[in-house]
Amino acid sequence: MTVAARAWVFRAAVIPAVLALSTSTSAAPAPVPPEAKPFALGSMEVFALRDAENIVPNDAKTFGVGHTPGEVAAVLRKAGAPENEIRLPIDALLVKARGHVMLFDTGLGPHVHGVLIASLAKAGVRPVDVTDVFITHSHGDHVGGLVGSDGAPAFPNAVVHMSAREWDWMKSQPRNADIVQVISRQVKPFEPGGELAPGVRTVALYGHTPGHVGYQISSGRARLLDFGDLAHSSIISLAKPDWTVEYDNDSEAGKATRKATLAQLAKSGELAFGPHMPFPGVGHVVAWGEGYVWKPASP
Ligand SMILES: [Zn+2]
Repeated sequence: MTVAARAWVFRAAVIPAVLALSTSTSAAPAPVPPEAKPFALGSMEVFALRDAENIVPNDAKTFGVGHTPGEVAAVLRKAGAPENEIRLPIDALLVKARGHVMLFDTGLGPHVHGVLIASLAKAGVRPVDVTDVFITHSHGDHVGGLVGSDGAPAFPNAVVHMSAREWDWMKSQPRNADIVQVISRQVKPFEPGGELAPGVRTVALYGHTPGHVGYQISSGRARLLDFGDLAHSSIISLAKPDWTVEYDNDSEAGKATRKATLAQLAKSGELAFGPHMPFPGVGHVVAWGEGYVWKPASP
């Protein structure tokens, strides 16, 4: 099969799966301009990379399930945000350190308007330069970018790190068959809790998906937790951590992990990164009332 034919077959098979796995079936991914925001973490060179944006209507079917749109709107209003929609950026993180070029999640992919590769270029990195890809979980807005526009692995020289539990779950879903086939030779499953690369430790944050993890990235005394999809809306997920989110595979486990991790981040004052927090996605979790607020940081 020619490369063009293979790409077409891949697109036809994968786009529905990527959209279904994306953060919502009711959300339409919107294109964004490519952008790479640099910052330092100790001696590490870090970039927040833009990929796309989801715009979710406030109908209480995604956030605040079991509540009314009016209750959700009240939370948004209090934060000074529009009440009729929730904007969810889709971002990734790039870390250059000690001979490693490390990418944390890969966005939606070029088949669904993802501009991650162009953002990566702005950080001076080509896809072939990436040595390690760290996946928080297997939803389409995090793994879609593992497949290039030609249907082949987008980061051909990279090891793809994913928790063993998540990889097993991903493989068990028939809708993932095509993407699993493309990436299977690159995937190196791990048990959370250890160090996978210099300064990169894994933290089990199960609930959103069965094997969802976070990554603790540190250099000297500087530290940052990439918490993945522990929280989706910088407003609602933090103000109401125990509200049900349609995206969570196991909503009770998702709530428990969200509440415990947000409490821990608020107590430690540690820097955090969330792929769906407002770009560049870096900030602090601060206790406020019965919940928390997101304080963007410019590190
Ligand atoms: Zn996501």
